[in-house]
Amino acid sequence: MPGKIRFAPSPTGYLHEGHLLSALYVWAAAKKWNLKIHLRIEDHDQSRARPAYIEGIREDLAWLGFHYDSESIQSARGEVYKAALQKLEEQSLVYPCFCSRKQLQEENPRSETGEIVYQGKCFRRETGDTNTPHNLRFIVPDKTIDWHDLRLGDFHENPKQQCGDFPIRDRDNQWTYQFAVCVDDIDENITHIVRGEDIRNSTARQIALMEALGRTERPIYLHHPLIVDANNKKLSKRELAHSLRQDKEAGITPEMLFGRVCYKAHLTMSDSPIALMDAISMVMNHI
Ligand code: GLU
Repeated sequence: MPGKIRFAPSPTGYLHEGHLLSALYVWAAAKKWNLKIHLRIEDHDQSRARPAYIEGIREDLAWLGFHYDSESIQSARGEVYKAALQKLEEQSLVYPCFCSRKQLQEENPRSETGEIVYQGKCFRRETGDTNTPHNLRFIVPDKTIDWHDLRLGDFHENPKQQCGDFPIRDRDNQWTYQFAVCVDDIDENITHIVRGEDIRNSTARQIALMEALGRTERPIYLHHPLIVDANNKKLSKRELAHSLRQDKEAGITPEMLFGRVCYKAHLTMSDSPIALMDAISMVMNHI
């Protein structure tokens, strides 16, 4: 069976250069490794997703020439998430957490990256009124996860020290990114995960959660570099808000955008196993 890779934008705005860079990597990897491509619309956060942005993703990908083999949308997958939650509950790996944002900030230490490391206050709590707002946390195993990134090398990370037990459903009853992405990557048989290195920190906890959900074979990971500004800093909200469709309306072609994004990401041959030449050969064959 051929493997499968996914492109998983969140419809909280129109696609921008950061998405285009990710898409170039995903489609180049698919070409290089002969993978099926799955478009997953990650609209788990219903307070931020908009129908216009969902349609925008499909239109922009078609305009850019990125074709895919299958598509799913998280808001239609409630039953799958419920079944996955039940699987965790059967193993007693979930508990309700009533801590407020303020309590979380005041009562827990932070990791090197500044993330709150939840110390399990509500795990130790005997009872709680489940009628009051609460989220559900997954009990993370206290162990080091050894995993490999094709570009960045080996990692040895313990999610208990990175973030502690983490939410899988929030206090508004919305599935969290961490949970939905793990359930989907299992259920949709994703074998290759290529995404920006801003999400690299999530990988060990996602591996732990996928293992608890019964996945035995791990996906292959590659976290790609991000576009940075002239001072090597992350792009600002304003720069990220500049959409590809604004460029399209200004008469810029997909080819011009590909060139601009590769240039801005400082993509070079030595950057990764699937860097510039693969991206370009893919673009030439497919537009
Ligand atoms: N939905 C995420 C984003 O737009 C991507 C998540 C992933 O690739 O795991 O940044």
